[in-house]
This record gives sequence, C-alpha cells and structure tokens, in this order.
Amino acid sequence: MNSWPSIPLRELKEYQFPKLKLINSNNQSSTLEGADSFNMYVCGITPYDATHLGHAATYLAFDMVNRYQSAAGSKVEFVENVTDVDDPLLERAKRDGIDWRKLAHTQIELFKSDMTALRVIPPSHLVHVTDSLEIIENFIKLLDQNGYLYKLDKDFYFSVGSFLQDLPISVEEAVKIFAERGGDPDREGKKHPLDPVVWFAHREDDPAWNSSFGLGRPGWHVECTAIASHYLDQKKSDPILQIQGGGADLKFPHHFMSEQIVKAAYGRGFARDYIHAAMIFFDGEKMSKSKGNLVFVSELLEQGIDPMIIRWALMSGHYQQDRSWSEQLLFKAISEVTQVRAALAQSEVAEADPLIRSIINDLANNLDTPTALSRLLQWANSSISNPQVNQSGLVSRAIDSLLGLAL
Ligand code: ZN
Repeated sequence: MNSWPSIPLRELKEYQFPKLKLINSNNQSSTLEGADSFNMYVCGITPYDATHLGHAATYLAFDMVNRYQSAAGSKVEFVENVTDVDDPLLERAKRDGIDWRKLAHTQIELFKSDMTALRVIPPSHLVHVTDSLEIIENFIKLLDQNGYLYKLDKDFYFSVGSFLQDLPISVEEAVKIFAERGGDPDREGKKHPLDPVVWFAHREDDPAWNSSFGLGRPGWHVECTAIASHYLDQKKSDPILQIQGGGADLKFPHHFMSEQIVKAAYGRGFARDYIHAAMIFFDGEKMSKSKGNLVFVSELLEQGIDPMIIRWALMSGHYQQDRSWSEQLLFKAISEVTQVRAALAQSEVAEADPLIRSIINDLANNLDTPTALSRLLQWANSSISNPQVNQSGLVSRAIDSLLGLAL
C-alpha cells in the first residue's frame, strides 16, 4: 500500500547465511531469530522537506537488514509510516502559504522517487497517518480502558509515570530532551512532565478529525504504536516486533514512549530490539535546517550523480557511526564504483565464491558494509590484474541482492 515500485531480489540459495547479529540500543549484541518470518517497523518521514542524506542513510541501514533477512530465506514483513500530519509540516505549509496536504503529497512523491533511485526495497506497507485515524483512535481507546489516559482541557495525555523505572537516563535529562523534541513538560495540570499527548484537541486552522476523544488529531508516539500493532501483530507475540528502527534521534523520547504505550495497551513489549542508525554530518558539522547545510538526495540526483554512487558513499561508513558527507567522500565513491564496474565489465574475473561468502559474513556481523565494500574493491583489483573465471554475472547478482548495488 502506497509504497514505491518493488525490486526483484535474486536468490542466493547456494550460500549459507549465519544469523544476523545487530547491536541494539542498549549496546548489546542481538542475534535475530525468525528463520521463516521476520517483522520490522521503521519510523518514516514527516513530509515537509525533501529526503536529506541523514534520512537516506537510515533507510539504507534498514534496507540492508531487509535484504539480508530476505536473502537468508525469511519472509519479511516490513512496515514504515509517513507522519503526514504534524507540527513541522503544518508550520512549513503555513510559512510557505500552501495547503499542508499538497506539501505532504509533493514531498512523499519525492521521497518515493529518492528511495526508488537508491534501490531501497519498499516496505510491505507504507502507511500514512491520515489514512489511519480509525486504527489510532481504537488504539487510544485501549489506553483509556486500561486507565492510562487522562484529559487536560481538551487534550488527552498518556500517563507514563508508572513506567519510568525503565527510563534509560535521568528524569532531568529526559525532561530536557523531551522539551527539545516537541514535548511540553512545563504544561500545568499534567500528572508527570514526561506524559506525551496522544490526542490534540482541534486548534484554529489546523486539520482535525472527529473521534470519540473529540475533534482533533493524534500525537506522534501513539501513531507508530497503533500502526505497527495493526499491521504486524498477527501472531500476538510478546514483544510484537523483532525490530523497531529509526534514526538515533528517535531513541528518546519516541522509542521509549512507544515501548511504554504498548505495555500500557497490551501488557506486552513492543520490540525485541530497538536499532538506531547514526547521524550524517556535512564537512564535519551536524546537518541541520538552521545551519542551512542539509544535502538532499534529490539535489545530488539533479546534479547528475549516479544514485549507486550515493549509496556506495553512504555504505562506505558504518551505519552506527556518525560520519561526514563531503565532496572528497563523493569523489572517492566515484573512483571506487568505477573500478568495480570496470571489473564487472570483463568476461573473466577473480573467483566469485570466496568474495560472496565473505560479504555475507561481513553483513551478518552488524552490517559491516565498510569491510564488505573494501573486499569488493580488492576483488575488482584482482580481477583486473589476474582474471581467472567467467563469474562476473554471479558477483553482479550477489552485490545487487545483498548490498543493493546495481553496477
Ligand atoms: Zn515512529
């Protein structure tokens, strides 16, 4: 639903796939189970601006998980949301004097074309919040039935107080971050400063929907828990998800709140592992709207840069290490991709099997793409200096399936 075009994956049945090991948000090594089925929910975009390289790096990281699990034979169920009604979107639409729906639609289309160009496998469901109001309302009703919902003026809050023993940071620190990321810790009348809004009463000029909680719109955290549970809780497992993924900035409050909200609604855990992708800097500085140094995928594509070079450049660093985008990185990626393409164009190359087995093992080790790419480069150099076998097609298929590189 709503996703971008699917990408056929070539099977690699002749290879052994070790279980994928990932480092979760508790800095623990976690080995993924689920030989037959695997589910993953990744927090999606708020469509008020184009996809910048930080977004792209995050979606590439989870694309690697999806590719690995699929190649290893799992049936992957993967859902991603689009927060297509939220303060930043409404504020941007107001600032630019355009309809918020039109802004969201344009940016969602741009996001889909960026993901298509980068060869990110689409989720089984790309779910818009505005298409999910009933699902979200029904979920909030569970919080109400279980006594975790309260009303303040006309807004409704989730009472997180009884779950704070799981807070990974101090309350003071949590309150500070909560305020920086859209929370309202200082509002009078709240039971606890960290309680998040789950239903905003209608404010002038803002879009609103009718619900049993009055006219209004849902809050951010509850949207993801409601959508993920609706699409991925068929087995009523505890926890519901194997992976809840997103950028490192979602660790708190978003993913913490999601976990507590699901506990309150179902008495079960939300995700076995929370996996976070690190940030992308620009020339050593944090990319941000205020600094005006965001690099957008669509701009690079417009400049004629091959999307496979963008993909290679982002994967040449590890997904859990903050790293910098620069012209130098781009030029390096251009040169490396050119070498691999030159090798793949030959009729005879170095042996494929040891390379493919090594890449599989690198990926199984917390998605070590930098090592996988350096092996591919070494293979390309050996292929040029000492070609031996007619196996370039096999390497092409394997790196497309495993790394998303169609070279
Ligand atoms: Zn989310």
